[in-house]
Amino acid sequence: MISLAQARAAVASVESELCTVFSGATLDALPEQIALLGRGGMVLDANAAWRDAVHGGRHPLEHGHQHGVDAVLAGQLPAYHAEYGSIDGRNHYSVSVVPLDDRAALAIHRDITAQRRVEAALRVAATAFEAAQGMMISDADGYILHVNPAFTRITGYSAAEIAGKTPRILSSGRHPAEFYQQMWQAIARDGSWEGEIWNRRKNGEIYPEHLRITAVRDQQGRISNYVAALTDISLSKAANDEIRSLAFYDPLTQLPNRRLLLDRLQHVVASSTRHDRYGALMFIDLDNFKTLNDTLGHNVGDQLLQQVAERLQGCLRKGDTVARLGGDEFVVLVEGLSSAPRAAASETEALGSKILSSLNRPYLLGTHRCRSTPSIGATLFHCGESPLPDDLLMQADIAMYQAKQAGRNGMRFFDRQMQERISARAQLEGDLRQALERQQFALHYQVQVDAQGRPRGAEGLLRWRRDDGSMVSPLEFIPLAEETGLIIPIGHWVLETACARLQEWQSDPALAQLMLAINVSASQFRQPDFCEEVQRLVAQYGINPGLLKLELTEGVLLEMVEETIVSMCRLRDIGVRFALDDFGTGYSSLQYLKRLPLSQLKIDQSFVRDLVSDSSDQAIVQTIIAMAASLQLDVIAEGVETEAQRAQLEKMGCLRYQGYLFSHAVSAPQLRALVRAGGLAG
Ligand code: C2E
Ligand code: MG
Ligand code: MG
Repeated sequence: MISLAQARAAVASVESELCTVFSGATLDALPEQIALLGRGGMVLDANAAWRDAVHGGRHPLEHGHQHGVDAVLAGQLPAYHAEYGSIDGRNHYSVSVVPLDDRAALAIHRDITAQRRVEAALRVAATAFEAAQGMMISDADGYILHVNPAFTRITGYSAAEIAGKTPRILSSGRHPAEFYQQMWQAIARDGSWEGEIWNRRKNGEIYPEHLRITAVRDQQGRISNYVAALTDISLSKAANDEIRSLAFYDPLTQLPNRRLLLDRLQHVVASSTRHDRYGALMFIDLDNFKTLNDTLGHNVGDQLLQQVAERLQGCLRKGDTVARLGGDEFVVLVEGLSSAPRAAASETEALGSKILSSLNRPYLLGTHRCRSTPSIGATLFHCGESPLPDDLLMQADIAMYQAKQAGRNGMRFFDRQMQERISARAQLEGDLRQALERQQFALHYQVQVDAQGRPRGAEGLLRWRRDDGSMVSPLEFIPLAEETGLIIPIGHWVLETACARLQEWQSDPALAQLMLAINVSASQFRQPDFCEEVQRLVAQYGINPGLLKLELTEGVLLEMVEETIVSMCRLRDIGVRFALDDFGTGYSSLQYLKRLPLSQLKIDQSFVRDLVSDSSDQAIVQTIIAMAASLQLDVIAEGVETEAQRAQLEKMGCLRYQGYLFSHAVSAPQLRALVRAGGLAG
């Protein structure tokens, strides 16, 4: 057996790691576990670390390294080396066995966990350096030391080309010198800088990149290197621009869209620099655009819109905005007009005329030569009053509508009274919608008398009493009800109320023979189930249909002629009568009237008003009466206010009258009292 001293001498010659000074104390001071092994792995001597491990139950050679030791001692292996991990994977160890002579070998077991971590970190760093992000490392003076393949892909410069150069080679020239100064100041101060920057590729192309530069300091705190990580964002930037353009621009004309317009308008009215100035907003709508679109096709329509956009831009100064809201609607926003309202208005007027004449010039759309005209609504605003953008747009829209009403191809300024009418109307519509359920309607009755003054019938006239007690005239709300479709439920209510009233009158001998006329609107009459509705109500209330008279106007009869005649005949066949209301104001021909199952013509009150003095009214009334006679129809005059009118009518052959001379429209109980008393209030 060799002594430890001999072994030490041998070790010194083969194991450089154990170095020059080889003493027991030195070996004991080492963290590695070191042992001198004999045949069969017997431990001949060991240092403190080894002994501690054995003592702690962790024999360094327990991990199946015995055969390696044996092979080395048997001279089968020149040396044995192995690495292994702890079961939990957290620690790593290496074991090395080298022969000293044929009887002894030196084993070194060490913990290599820390070393492994460093290696892994380096691998990660190396991989990261190969990643998609471009990397550039320079020395403290900015001279480039390394770049990665991604850098080469982005910039076009190979590592060999760029090494030793400074990043100035990438400069796009788009940023002023201060930009770079601030960047380097930030790096010196904060240790890093991050931002977007325009750089130039080797092929000259300028591109946007996201750049992060970090200063690396040495142990003394001096900057030793700079590391730059860069990402080419030209693609995502293009995508961003695309999104931005879709969000704020009209794709057809490239003009700002509604959102951008409102944004700018908001900005203009809020900008304090222009507070003393007027601005103008013009709403431009093409006349008959829909017709052109429908007849020549959308492609031609699109071309027109594009050319209109160009012409509008041509009419404006730099700084003014023209936007397309959609369809054929454009808006022009003009800023910085005069601070005097009249002057601002005439400036706007001048621009309006310029736009009108520009858009009136003929268009060449593909092979089509077309003309198109605009209607323009303008509203002035004073920035100091901080108007709301939405309100301004609505005002310009209202004015445009006025321009349309006034015959198109013109311009109108917004007029506050008009707006008040419009909002009052909106209010009225809202109230009208609730009037039925709130039971605010009443049917009043105006008596109709014969030549002897005896009551023969009545006309039901609708009344709307609002909650505050005010009465709304049917002249005001019937047209609105027709436009909004509310006339259908309202008309149904009138019809049912009339049937209920006739039923009630049947039990009263004074009223049982009274005819009841009601007014039926065109849209109500054209409801497909109107005839069924009348039939059902007549049956439901058990009334004599011969006492129910429907007043139609010529307007109803002129449209959908055949259908109207069919419906009228169906109702006539069950006994219902028809009167033609407001007769003389329309255009019905005698030929046409002959085909209608009418029972009465109602001379419009406009002919009655001046009947006594106006000879042309006399002529008209005479003709109507003659016409009624030839068609074998009754004739009644409405709006009879004086005895002179009544006498004149009687003389001409009209023997039925309705008007204030006899009674206003009154409630059902009042009518009952009136009729029972013999009718005539005088
Ligand atoms: P209309 O059917 O021609 O009714 C006659 C209108 O002349 C009534 O006005 C009546 O009050 C008024 N009037 C009667 N006598 C005189 C007179 O001596 N002098 C003058 N100046 N006027 C007289 P009202 O009640 O305001 O009705 C206006 C119009 O509203 C009616 O004209 C009718 O077209 C419509 N209307 C009324 N009630 C209804 C209804 O229930 N349904 C439908 N669809 N329309 C109705
Ligand atoms: Mg009437
Ligand atoms: Mg009438």
